[in-house]
Amino acid sequence: MGPPGAGKGTQSAVLSREYKIPHISTGDILREAVKEDTALGAKAKSFMDKGQLVPDEVVTGIITESLKAPDTKDGFILDGFPRTVKQAEILDGALEAMSSGIDMVLYFETSPKVAIERLSGRRVCRGCGFNYHIKNIPPKQEGSCDKCGGELYQRPDDKEETVLNRLKVYEAETKPLIDYYTKKGILKKVSGDLGVDALFKVLSKVFSVAKLR
Ligand SMILES: [Zn+2]
Repeated sequence: MGPPGAGKGTQSAVLSREYKIPHISTGDILREAVKEDTALGAKAKSFMDKGQLVPDEVVTGIITESLKAPDTKDGFILDGFPRTVKQAEILDGALEAMSSGIDMVLYFETSPKVAIERLSGRRVCRGCGFNYHIKNIPPKQEGSCDKCGGELYQRPDDKEETVLNRLKVYEAETKPLIDYYTKKGILKKVSGDLGVDALFKVLSKVFSVAKLR
């Protein structure tokens, strides 16, 4: 968990590679289920087509299905899910039924200054969707994608004034979820302000002393 710009996606990808466990990102899983037209994917699509939020039961069902895949037998990393206490409760129930559960919830505490710097510098390729950063991951040629030559643009919600608002909304929305996992004694706070390598070192230490299944 962590606000936009905390580096969750980047760190999840690194951890997934290092520990050889799948990185399950809600956005990707939802899109995949819709594309493959699974029963739950079709249900999710019917809400998305109407411009409505996909209900907690459907999202959680799709995530739970992906947790039954054989590649999760040594563990998994959830990124961007659960978002609400209700989703967390449904997830806990589903995992319990599979004799599984969540060992640890990492919260990437991130200062607004750092989040703004990361998000406002982000540029996305119109062609292939690859993410760049004007300072940290600059393209070889300004404004165009190294991979496909597509045009790079700034997502409207990555503009500085919008980012501040997203951070406030995130904090208010996630407070109950932080309380939920704190009460369970599995929430661990780390600094999202750290760079990719420094934070990975911290996480490796956290995992080495943790009681994992
Ligand atoms: Zn591209």
